[in-house]
Amino acid sequence: MKRLVVALGGNAIIQAGQRGTAEEQQANVDLTCRQLAELVAAGYELIITHGNGPQVGNLLVKNELAREVVPPVPLHWCVAQTQATIGFMIQQALGAELQQRGIERVVATLVTRTEVSPDDPAWREPTKPIGLYYPEERARAIMAATGQVWKPQGSRGWRRVVPSPDPIAIVDRPAIELLLGAGAIVVACGGGGIPVVRRTDGRYEGVEAVIDKDLAAALLAHELGADALVILTDVPSVMLYYGTPEARPLEKVTVEELRRYQADGHFASGSMGPKVEAAIRFVSRKPGRRAVIAALDHAREAVEGRSGTQVIG
Ligand code: ADP
Ligand code: MG
Repeated sequence: MKRLVVALGGNAIIQAGQRGTAEEQQANVDLTCRQLAELVAAGYELIITHGNGPQVGNLLVKNELAREVVPPVPLHWCVAQTQATIGFMIQQALGAELQQRGIERVVATLVTRTEVSPDDPAWREPTKPIGLYYPEERARAIMAATGQVWKPQGSRGWRRVVPSPDPIAIVDRPAIELLLGAGAIVVACGGGGIPVVRRTDGRYEGVEAVIDKDLAAALLAHELGADALVILTDVPSVMLYYGTPEARPLEKVTVEELRRYQADGHFASGSMGPKVEAAIRFVSRKPGRRAVIAALDHAREAVEGRSGTQVIG
């Protein structure tokens, strides 16, 4: 059975323009899981991972607004909490879709830790904006009180920035493998995983950072020996000259070609950049692998090589 790691983008859970109510999120996940059920029915073994940006953002807002009433929780707790709620929605939806198709499979969500290095250069320069926008004065007051780093983000005000270190190991991979071995479809490493560092005494410690979900998906796929990494997002494929009249889609591309386009600056750093980097990392680490970046609503065609950008060795 071919093993796929499927990474779901933000649009799989909250659509552009939505507020993101619980009902909206579950309805989107229902549609997403119809796509995923097709893959299960076609005989693929799935490990599902997903983004969590807006969901963590909402928890941070609650932290701030309720600060005087309940103690704020660390950022890595927020990641853990979103893994649970998003995993729950997927269990509900995918479970129902499979049942409807007469497929008896367990869907299990694993609260997953991802190791990052305390020596990662990202710690020196936090770059990832998260949570609320505040006026400069308020942001400076929070910085002074908490030691957090906030930076100006254009006309909307200031925003907290946190480091986004490279994932180096999926700490809970053995648990994922146990579940896969027992025949489960596993939701794991949501939001890139709960960031932890390994201390000198061997214990893991949660840290205030966020891990890019596409880079974590690439590592997860590598560690699990997946046949393909499938990154599903809100555009049909990777484009060259994106956003210009010369824009054109990339269909089949080698790692070498893709690296060249990457060096030429075709892929925006906060969005398509990490997907392209994830595809390159996964495919280049072992011969015979494939990565695909495609639209969520073409999941099956993408996996079968008929849609999206196919990245080969
Ligand atoms: P996700 O939530 O799926 O990770 P992102 O918003 O992070 O989605 O990334 C997808 C977005 O990347 C697209 O909606 C598109 O606006 C943007 N993008 C930037 N550069 C490119 C490119 N070269 N080709 C296609 N899309 C691009
Ligand atoms: Mg993204």
